[in-house]
Amino acid sequence: MSEPSRRDRWAIIVHGGAKDIPPGQEQIHRDGCLAALGAGQAVLEAGGRALDAVVAAVRALEDDPTFNAGRGAVRNARGEVELDAAIMDGQTLAVGGVAAVKTLRHPISVAAAMLPEVPVLLVGEGAEAFARAHGGEFCAPADLLAAGPDDRGCDTVGCVALDRHGNIAAGTSTGGLSGCHPGRVGDSPLPGCGLYADNAVGGVSLSGDGESLIRTTLAARLMQGLETLPPGPAIETALSHLARVGGEAGLIVIDAAGRIDWDHTSAQFAVAHASASQPARAFVNRAEDARKDLA
Ligand code: ASP
Repeated sequence: MSEPSRRDRWAIIVHGGAKDIPPGQEQIHRDGCLAALGAGQAVLEAGGRALDAVVAAVRALEDDPTFNAGRGAVRNARGEVELDAAIMDGQTLAVGGVAAVKTLRHPISVAAAMLPEVPVLLVGEGAEAFARAHGGEFCAPADLLAAGPDDRGCDTVGCVALDRHGNIAAGTSTGGLSGCHPGRVGDSPLPGCGLYADNAVGGVSLSGDGESLIRTTLAARLMQGLETLPPGPAIETALSHLARVGGEAGLIVIDAAGRIDWDHTSAQFAVAHASASQPARAFVNRAEDARKDLA
């Protein structure tokens, strides 16, 4: 059989964070990831841009209080919400990011609005002023906070998409780590740490212990691996570096050939993926996703 033409090829993968999912909560994580995947998939199937698919999927995850991003965010040590998000365009290498924002309903959309701008990352009040000038949606910080106690570990959300035009995009959005220092920014909005995309190589989005992912520039290591290796071995090689500093991680990947893969060192990592050749499916750990070739 002939290879699918570029126009027929698309792929998307989303994650709901590297963490321990409490018993009985597995299905709502799968369902939340599947719903977000569906929002992104609809964009790709209609011939839309990878960037728009990533925004659509991450907005859905930000809307779902199951996940620590947008609504459902955890509290820092002062009991406040601080959100970080970023998106990267693999065609132009443009990156937009916001960090330590307290009133943005959809940080990923404000990050996307920054893509044409010179700055890569705006924080705090500066980011919120940018959002005000660019039609960002605002809400009260209390509307973003997770209900009940913050007993969750890491659960940043993320998405990588490849569109029918061969363009790759990656995004992340997070409420950070529960009880963290006010003003702390993790890996999620930092290119090369929590995400990266380059049409020539692939796209990645990560979750886990932000300081460990930053110290090992794990997204950059993963991209470097993808230059010469298929996604599985590239993930394995990147994860081997994490041992040096400790901490947990979950990684999702689509390479330039449209191959999807993912893995994690955390107990669970909720993921859903689909492509032109594979139907949408969701999982809470890699062992559930037994297929060898995920493309
Ligand atoms: N990596 C994120 C951070 O450190 C947390 C997470 O993945 O859930 O802010």
